[in-house]
Amino acid sequence: MREVTRPAEASNYQTVSHWFDLASERLGLADDVAAVLRSPYREVTVQLPIMRGDGRIHLFTGFRVQHNGARGPYKGGIRFHPEVDLDEVRALAELMTWKTALVGVPFGGAKGGVNVTPAELTPGERQQVTRSFMDKIEKVLGPTRDIPAPDVGTDAQTMAWLMDEYGKLHGHTPAIVTGKPIALEGSYGREAATGRGVVHCFTQAAAGLGLDPASTRFVVQGFGNVGSWAARILQDIGATMVGVSDASGAIASDAGLDAHALQEYLAHGGRLPEFAGAESIPAGELLSLECELFVPAALGGMIHRENADLLRCRMIVEGANGPTTPAADEILTDKGVMIVPDLLANAGGVVVSYFEWVQNQQHFRWDETEVNRKLERVMHRAYAEVSARAEAGGDCLRVAAFALGVERVLEAARTRGYIG
Ligand code: NAD
Repeated sequence: MREVTRPAEASNYQTVSHWFDLASERLGLADDVAAVLRSPYREVTVQLPIMRGDGRIHLFTGFRVQHNGARGPYKGGIRFHPEVDLDEVRALAELMTWKTALVGVPFGGAKGGVNVTPAELTPGERQQVTRSFMDKIEKVLGPTRDIPAPDVGTDAQTMAWLMDEYGKLHGHTPAIVTGKPIALEGSYGREAATGRGVVHCFTQAAAGLGLDPASTRFVVQGFGNVGSWAARILQDIGATMVGVSDASGAIASDAGLDAHALQEYLAHGGRLPEFAGAESIPAGELLSLECELFVPAALGGMIHRENADLLRCRMIVEGANGPTTPAADEILTDKGVMIVPDLLANAGGVVVSYFEWVQNQQHFRWDETEVNRKLERVMHRAYAEVSARAEAGGDCLRVAAFALGVERVLEAARTRGYIG
């Protein structure tokens, strides 16, 4: 589905550059220091030829970008999506560097991806692509070097295949990936963690605006891992979902859509536009639904110069990475919409990935209540630090979040002696 198009201004790389430059200006970074911080440490591009059921070899391309490892092993998800390219992966890897620093987990930033449409592959072919990707990049990975995780188009099953393939060469190594299934030393609470972190950010921001979750109507763009968990947890705290979309279309209902029932329905093969009791609407109309909270949880650049003015919400909490272009951000800020940026809002996933990695090092497991409590503490602390920084500098939350992340990476790089 491409009803919501991404214009040229909406590349994730341009978006990240814009915010980095502002943060760099606030921090007074010299050009040479800024250039070192921005440039990736290593970029790997690999060829993935796969023999498919039609008897032909299909050639995919895989990428792993390790952006900055000053604070610890590289960390970041792997995306399976037809639009994956080096620029996109580079931008997402850089976002991970600032994000891990912002929430204070001892990792650097990385990202990976394969330009494949997972829905077009059989489960066997998906497994082949996944294992082949691991075979090609394992030399630069490792539990103390670079630790992948799920992202768009990949899930716990993908992580299980990656771990298994790595284990063939190196022995059983659960800490090589996070976001694994519970049966394979995955962490309780990891699957829901990014969505849960979105909700923690919402409750913190709502308190500031005097907004009661029980009277909050929300809209979710992208009902995948992040969007569906955010929706279910928001519903559990009393908020009402009035609109939602995925790649197949969008639906709305003033009376509210049951996020738990929708999740069950989709898990059993249902199509979102045909969900009972909802009105199917054009994807572009999702943006103009009246609500208090809008949660973008699909791809980057989907709120841009040409459609930002349509939004009728009081707050955006960014589940997706880079969903709002700088031009859209300006339009929305002028309209008085509060934006909790991706760097902070979707960091819950990497926080619980860190917990998973810690548990894997000890082959030990915390229960879900423990994981959720620890996550809440980290998210509240990060939110408070970003808000305080924004207030002190007269900046928006996004510039404050970038500045905090960049500052911490710079400190680590200087302390190691990387940067004089
Ligand atoms: P996912 O593959 O589970 O879900 C993506 C969802 O977006 C799917 O429902 C898909 O149908 C939908 N979608 C795709 N194109 C769309 C379109 N044009 N309009 C509306 N919906 C569309 O992926 P995910 O893991 O939930 O990731 C979603 C976003 O969150 C991405 O930007 C990702 O980088 C970010 N993120 C994910 C995690 C994580 O832990 N999974 C962590 C941090 C950030």
